[in-house]
Amino acid sequence: MTDRDKAEIFIDEPRRRTPVAGRYDVIVCGGGPAGTAAAVRAAENGASVLLLERQGSLGGTWTGSLMTWLMDVENKSGLLDRLTDGICSLGSLYCRQHGDYSFCPEDMKCVMEQMAVEAGVSLLYHTMLAGVITEVPQGGGVPAVKGVITESKSRRQAFLAPVIVDATGDGDAAAMAGCSFFMGEEGTGRMQPMSMIALVCGLSVRDVRPFCLNYESCPGEAQRHFQELFASCGIRLSYSMPVLTHLKGDLFSVSLNHEYQVPCDDARQITDAVIRARAEVLGALHKLAAADKRWESAIIAHTADAIGVREGRRIRGNYTVTREDLISGRTFEDGICDVTFNVDIHVSGKTGSGSWDDGGVCVKPYQIPLRALIAADVRGLVLAGRLISGDFYAHASYRTGGNILKIGEAAGVLAAAAARTGVAPDEVPFDVVREVLGSGIGT
Ligand SMILES: Cc1cc2nc3c(=O)[nH]c(=O)nc-3n(C[C@H](O)[C@H](O)[C@H](O)COP(=O)(O)OP(=O)(O)OC[C@H]3O[C@@H](n4cnc5c(N)ncnc54)[C@H](O)[C@@H]3O)c2cc1C
Repeated sequence: MTDRDKAEIFIDEPRRRTPVAGRYDVIVCGGGPAGTAAAVRAAENGASVLLLERQGSLGGTWTGSLMTWLMDVENKSGLLDRLTDGICSLGSLYCRQHGDYSFCPEDMKCVMEQMAVEAGVSLLYHTMLAGVITEVPQGGGVPAVKGVITESKSRRQAFLAPVIVDATGDGDAAAMAGCSFFMGEEGTGRMQPMSMIALVCGLSVRDVRPFCLNYESCPGEAQRHFQELFASCGIRLSYSMPVLTHLKGDLFSVSLNHEYQVPCDDARQITDAVIRARAEVLGALHKLAAADKRWESAIIAHTADAIGVREGRRIRGNYTVTREDLISGRTFEDGICDVTFNVDIHVSGKTGSGSWDDGGVCVKPYQIPLRALIAADVRGLVLAGRLISGDFYAHASYRTGGNILKIGEAAGVLAAAAARTGVAPDEVPFDVVREVLGSGIGT
């Protein structure tokens, strides 16, 4: 039960007049990888764009949550190439044989921010989306978005736009606008766990090489070695397959924590999870430093500003990608992203065996159609990132880095085209989006 559900006393706030602080063609809510890609692509396609973000940097899970390993990146040119070129030039990025990328989160922040600024995106940090303004057309019908309400140091403000992109990861904008959504596995409600990741420095690459994702040809081997190291020191972890990633110089990221069944829309439960997670991460690394010589000089430089949320709301769109689509390798006339990644469901409780499973799905390369990025219940709302319309299993596959970026790009191009031509996103001809995104999408 949430704090909201428990409330017995309610306050009636006096009628408030909220100042309109700006008008744009497109407002992107959430500056994670999907939101950044959407904002950059929308601005490059002629739209005036506001990108609002509750943290003080772009990148979301990739930076604020210190998730530093991009998967399913092969054959995903476009913005991905520009990002990887940018972080390579800063000395980040180790490329493994089969194509995944690791990166330093500070470099990623910097490159994304410059990219957005150069594209002419208006950035607004430390700004929380607090509401979505919708209007039901005269004579009834589906409500249409008109703008957003934000809360920040500038207090409560309104920003207006005919097209809004929800890239909050958790689907906050869509939920506020009244869209229907799914959370967790249909039938069971199980959800993927959250994780608190940390940055560690002061280690010798030579000493810890066998535990690093970067240097083993099979990532599972490195994780198994790392797990055995903790076990040999008598340290029990909530995530049974911990991950060590070499980022740059003597900087590493460590992921060893799982927080189970924490809903993305409950601040109290998220706070409790953060406190538990941080204590576990610091405790485990201090014990390791005391027990193993190779770790005695390790310095825990930083724990993530935001706990990593693998799964939040999945918003109902004009098409929902399903488990069956993954099994059959379905393609679509309006395909915008080719996904090759397997289903990766992290265990949902401490009692689960292993650390992840594929839900019995053998994935054939499949596509995400543009329709899965268009909210079904509210006009003018485009979906970007992990919150697009898909079932529990499909989400567990396309949520990986390369796909998230491509989805964001398509969302941005679509949003700009809709705003420019004054039509709803589902009225934009697919050829317009295909033409801009170019090769590498659709068939
Ligand atoms: C622990 C963990 C490990 C993972 N491991 C891998 C991996 O190894 N490889 C891989 O490729 N992928 C991995 N992923 C998946 C991948 O990183 C994510 O799916 C991807 O980052 C999602 O991007 P997004 O832009 O959709 O959402 P997010 O990255 O969650 O970004 C959402 C943004 O919106 C902002 N926001 C949210 N609500 C509001 C609001 N109300 N107002 C204003 N701003 C708001 C947030 O601050 C954030 O910046 C992992 C994810 C997690 C959590």
